[in-house]
Amino acid sequence: MGQSTPMKITEIRVYSHDIKVAGGRYEMAISAVATLDSTVVELVSDEGLSGFGETTPLGPTYQPQHALGARAAIAEMAPALIGLNPLRTELVRRAMDNALTGHNYAKSALDVACWDLLGKVRGERVCDLLGGTDRDTVSSYYGVMPDTAPRTAEAARQRETEGYLRLQVKVGGRPLAEDIEATQAVADSISPATKLLVDANRGWTMRDTIEFSLACRDIRLSIENPCRTYDEHRAIADKLNHPLFLDECTTDLNLITRAIIDGVAQGFGMKLSRVGGLTPLRTVRDLCVAHGIPLTIDDTWGGDITAAATVHMGATVPDPFYEGTWISYPYQEQAYSCLTPPVQPSNGTIPIPSGSGLGVEPDLANWDPALSIYD
Ligand code: MG
Repeated sequence: MGQSTPMKITEIRVYSHDIKVAGGRYEMAISAVATLDSTVVELVSDEGLSGFGETTPLGPTYQPQHALGARAAIAEMAPALIGLNPLRTELVRRAMDNALTGHNYAKSALDVACWDLLGKVRGERVCDLLGGTDRDTVSSYYGVMPDTAPRTAEAARQRETEGYLRLQVKVGGRPLAEDIEATQAVADSISPATKLLVDANRGWTMRDTIEFSLACRDIRLSIENPCRTYDEHRAIADKLNHPLFLDECTTDLNLITRAIIDGVAQGFGMKLSRVGGLTPLRTVRDLCVAHGIPLTIDDTWGGDITAAATVHMGATVPDPFYEGTWISYPYQEQAYSCLTPPVQPSNGTIPIPSGSGLGVEPDLANWDPALSIYD
C-alpha cells in the first residue's frame, strides 16, 4: 500500500457557550459559580472532517484558568498548528508547547480535538485508541455540596440510593466543627461499602486538616486537596490518619511525579484540562498504575465533548486504580445541544459513547462563533 498524503489542519474554529448551573450555584470551600463559560474548538481538516475539543474553567479562581484566557491562548497557538497533521498527537503537542508556555487548559481542547479526528479517520472509539477497554460503562461519583449535617447526610444517602458507589462531600469555608459534624452524619447514614472522600478544595489550613483527621480517625475516608499548595500537603502528609488525594495543587506532570515519589499522594483527582489533554493524561494514567496510585478521570466542567473525553479515558484505567469519572451533567441546567445522545450517568454509571472518535456530534447551530484561524 502506498503512502497517502498526510492530513492537514486547514482551519481552527472557536466557539463559546454558557452552561448554567442547576439550582443557581455550584459551591466549593473558597469559590462558587453560577454560569460556566465553555470554549469549544473545531479542528477542520483538508479532507473535510472535523474534530472537536472543549475547555471549561470552573470560574476564574478554581485553578489558574479563565475562559477568555483559553480563547486568547488558542488564538496564540493556532497559527502554529495550521498545516500540521492532526493525527500525530505528540507532534501537535510539541508544536503547542513551542508556540506557548503553560496554558494547559487551552492545549487540552486542541489535543482532544486531534483525538476525535484520529478516531473518526480510523473508525474507532477514542477509548480503543487509548489502549482499549472491556467495559461498556464507567463508574461515576458524586460531589455533595456543603450543607447542614442532616441535609448533607440526606443528600449523600439519596445519591447512594441512585447507585453511586463513591461519594465526595465538599467541606471547608466554614467552622471546622461543622465539617466534622457533617462528615460524621454522612458516615453514619451510608453503607460502609460506599467509598467516602471529603474534598476541601484548598479551603483548610494545615492545622484544620490535621485536626479533622484526628477527630474523624475512626471513619474510613480519604481527604482531597485540603490545602493550597503542594508544600503544605507534603508538610502534613505523615501526620494524617487518612489517605490523601491531591487535585488542584498538582498543576503539571512534574508535580504529579513528585507527589508520587515523595509519598505525599495516595490518590489523585485528575483533570483533563489541568494536564493538557488526553495525550499527557495517558502518561499520568500509566504513571499512576505503575506506582499503584488510584485516580479519578475528570475535568473542571464542560458539556458532552468534555464528558465523552473523560469517559473514554476513564474506561481505559484498570479496575484497582480506577476511582470513577465525574461529569458535570447532573449539575447543569442546560449545556449545548448535540446531534448525538447526551453523555449522562444512570444508576451511578456512564455509558461509553458509541461511534467513532468521541462519539459526540455537536449541533453547531446553537453555538456562538468566537474566532476562526485559517490558512
Ligand atoms: Mg477535587
